[in-house]
Amino acid sequence: MSLHSHGVGQQKSSLVLEAAQRAAAYIESSRERGVFPTEEALADLKSFPRELRDGPVPAGEVLAMLDELGSPATVAATGGRYFGFVNGGTDPAAAAAAVLAGAWDQNAALPVMSPTAALLDEIAARWCLQLLGLPETVVAAFCSGATIANLTCIVAARDALLRRAGWDLDRYGLAGSPPLRVVASEEIHASVSKALRAAGIGTAQVASAPTDDRGRVLVERFPPVDDLTLVLLQAGNVNTGHSDPFGALIPMVHSKGGWVHVDGAFGLWAGASPSQRHLVEGVDLADSWASDGHKWLNTPYDCGIVICRDPENLRRTMAFQAAYLDGDARRVASELGLQMSQRARGVEVWAVLASRGRAGVAEMIDRSCGHAARMADMLEAAGAQILAPQALNQVLVRFDDDETTDAVLAAVQEDRTCWAGGTVWRGRRAMRISVCDDSTTADDITAAAQAIIRCWKRRGDAPALSTRSDHAHE
Ligand SMILES: *Cc1c(COP(=O)(O)O)cnc(C)c1O
Repeated sequence: MSLHSHGVGQQKSSLVLEAAQRAAAYIESSRERGVFPTEEALADLKSFPRELRDGPVPAGEVLAMLDELGSPATVAATGGRYFGFVNGGTDPAAAAAAVLAGAWDQNAALPVMSPTAALLDEIAARWCLQLLGLPETVVAAFCSGATIANLTCIVAARDALLRRAGWDLDRYGLAGSPPLRVVASEEIHASVSKALRAAGIGTAQVASAPTDDRGRVLVERFPPVDDLTLVLLQAGNVNTGHSDPFGALIPMVHSKGGWVHVDGAFGLWAGASPSQRHLVEGVDLADSWASDGHKWLNTPYDCGIVICRDPENLRRTMAFQAAYLDGDARRVASELGLQMSQRARGVEVWAVLASRGRAGVAEMIDRSCGHAARMADMLEAAGAQILAPQALNQVLVRFDDDETTDAVLAAVQEDRTCWAGGTVWRGRRAMRISVCDDSTTADDITAAAQAIIRCWKRRGDAPALSTRSDHAHE
């Protein structure tokens, strides 16, 4: 080893150690601080230099700047009282694995690039299928999130349906192809609409399936389907937590020759809990599924899961034609998704599952469902309206009217005891509380519910504020 490389290695290892110490201090403080950064911390972000320097700065100074300016202005998403969007916390084993895997810097594209990453990817994918109640002949692969998982499955479905119709897709692409149809729940997530657009499917090709007051597709009003139809359903409505009636719909679609894809970004994990499983009954009948590790499973970002019943349908669409990749019968991550080079996401998924086991994952799911139910009970007891019967880890709540609901949202976000975002449900403003961080305790729920109620009862005392980052779609 040269003197230079020895020195670089030493410097790197002591910096990583310092980073781990700073990370540990951050984790310890994240339960104590307000959930959203203070105005002071936000103002300090201005001290990050905007101009790229000419010369180098010692890496230790860069790390210190990140921690001193960056850490205080983060949102305490892992501190137990963040209920915004459907953002997960981080499992302890996964957070630790991420530190080690960061040092490994493995590219999981091909098995030869990392035997460890390839093995853990394969094991973690199989464990996910077992937990979700899907057959092991199905293929699961990790990607950057449910948006990409939805896109990947939609493209695989599109290709399979057109091939079955005798269309030479490899040669002609979509130009002049038989007309593909899509039937999508009217409650489909915004990321699915985006994926459809990216897959070359226009809105004129999409028929909308009406839903009930919980956001579930109505079987009796389901549009007609045929053997060129892709049906898009969901496990876990982002607002209500309710799922579509898979058992009634999927066999019907299959009898006509159509393909059913299920967006189960968080809701698919209900299948890992014996007490919640009935809410996604029949979901195992679908042809493809999209889910997330970084939401309810509490892996770090970014981790989504692509799942396809027939591995060949996914592989045909995602394989490279390049000769150097041919003839490898092993599982090749980059032939199961859009990315070539990729983070070894399977390592963190493996760590969560290895650490918790089957019962531990079920307990994690049950715990957040229990927290959400108690949150709904406390708010309802105080006189708030629960807009759809509480399901899974989601609570959809409204305070008096639109104006009051917005005022409560703004006051809660300003209060910083917890954080919850706004949404619109059936034309009415609502607050959505999503319990996705397994570090949330019963005391966190009590403190958060009390803060929300306090903000509601006290409204009028404080000046009106505007709500932050208010997106109905995540
Ligand atoms: C969050 C979410 C998505 C998008 O997932 P990303 O991981 O953010 O890409 C899609 N569908 C549903 C139901 C979601 O909750």
